[in-house]
Parts: sequence; structure tokens; C-alpha cells
Amino acid sequence: MSKPENIVETRKLRAKKNESEIWEELTHHGLLLINPEINRAIVKKTLRGLKKFEQSLKEKILQRFKPEDGHILIMGVPGAGKTTQGKHLAEILEIPFISTGEMLREEVEKETALGLEAKSYMDKGELAPDELVIKMVEKRLDGEKMCIVDGFPRNKTQVDNNPDFARRAIALNLRDEVAVERLSVRKDENGDTRDDDKPEVIRDRVAKYHKTTEPIIQLYREKDALTEVDQEKDDKDWMVFANLIAKMIAEEAELM
Ligand code: AMP
Repeated sequence: MSKPENIVETRKLRAKKNESEIWEELTHHGLLLINPEINRAIVKKTLRGLKKFEQSLKEKILQRFKPEDGHILIMGVPGAGKTTQGKHLAEILEIPFISTGEMLREEVEKETALGLEAKSYMDKGELAPDELVIKMVEKRLDGEKMCIVDGFPRNKTQVDNNPDFARRAIALNLRDEVAVERLSVRKDENGDTRDDDKPEVIRDRVAKYHKTTEPIIQLYREKDALTEVDQEKDDKDWMVFANLIAKMIAEEAELM
């Protein structure tokens, strides 16, 4: 979009009487949200009111995402922001956020048999045995129709075990060098560095992601069930999120 058009768009937005109309307009023009030239102050102001419009936003998303349709996967290299974005989305949709990495770390912490078995793989940045992870996921998702799932399926065996596991995948795109940089300074909620965030392990995890997990993204692309977001376009989590939901709504509308 050219600059003059943007100014017109911005004026049009300003002329809207209330914030919910602005939100309607922004959602309608979904991709306006990711145009770097749009007046960000207006977008920001609008999004600050996001909570207020949660109901209408929820209705819009829920029109497209029916609980019985299945899970939504969130994918991307380690450090791409899957937890942050996945949790925002789960909150808006009022559905659970499930992370296999988090589940496994809890098992390790509690020193369960499953945790003890998975730990040696996790510390090296390798995938835990498929059978163990598949069983753990099936148990956790038993009775759940729609969750945001981070970390599963992670390879061909896991996909083949249930090819219709998810109705849509989200890919958060980030260059490897930025991911490695982010992970090497990442701290958990206790301020500790994760064992698998050591530089030598990070590189292995990123390489493993490209080799075994990335091909899964292509499967969803072929099914027209992939939403891709460029993590580096915006430096703020809320902008990435706004972009993500606008794209999801727009892409699902195209399929209807
Ligand atoms: P994450 O927090 O998603 O990076 O996961 C941390 C670690 O948990 C990974 O490096 C693997 O060792 C293990 N893990 C998580 N999800 C899976 C999975 N679906 N299959 C096998 N191992 C997994």
C-alpha cells in the first residue's frame, strides 16, 4: 500500500466513531495490521482496548474455529515465541495451551519414570522416544476437542500416528541466528537458564527442527491450513499477535 493511501486509511480510522468500529475496520482489512507504514499509535490504541472487544473478537474467531474441528498447532524454531503467542491465542479462544516440552520438563522435575527416561534425550537436545511422547499426549488430550498445541507432532512418526490431529497450523518464522541469540539469553520464570538452552545444544535443537519438524509445516501448507507469521517484522509481541489473529480470520474466511 502506498503512503498517501495509508494516510487516507488512517484518517478513515480516526473518523470512526468508536473503538469497536475501528477494530471492525482493522480486522476487515486484516493485513493493514502488518503494514509497517500504518499509524501504529492508532493501532496500538485500538489494541489496548482489545480486552474490551474480546467478546466480539472471540465471536469472530469462534465463527471460524469450531471446537469440534480439532486442535491448532503452533510451530517454529526454538525461541520463535510459540509459548507467548500460543498462550495469547488460547486465552482469547478460552481453550487450553498444551506444550509437550513443558509437560516433559514437569515430569523431569517430579522425577517420574517418564521424566527420568526423557531427561537424557532432552539434555542433549534430542527428541524423546516417540512412544513415550505419543502416550503422554494422548492421555493429556483425552476428551479435549480443541487446544493450542506446541511441540507435537514433531516428526513423521508422530504425524503418521494421527494425520488428522490438527485442523490448522501456525508457523512463526524467525531466522536461525536470531533464534540462537534469543535463546542464549532466555531465562525461565525462576530466572534460571534451561539446560537445553546452552549454545552447543541450541544449535542442535535448531538443526533438528529444520530436519525433522519443518517438513510437517509443508503438509499444512498443501492442505491450505497454514498461517505463517514473520516474527521479525514486528518487535512487539502484541503486534505479532494482532497480525496472527487477523491473518487467521482472513485465511479461514477465504476457505468458507
Ligand atoms: P521444547 O520446549 O518444545 O523445545 O521441548 C524441549 C525438549 O522436550 C525437546 O528438545 C525434546 O527433547 C522434548 N520434546 C518436546 N516435545 C517432543 C516431542 N513431540 N517429541 C519428542 N520429544 C519432545
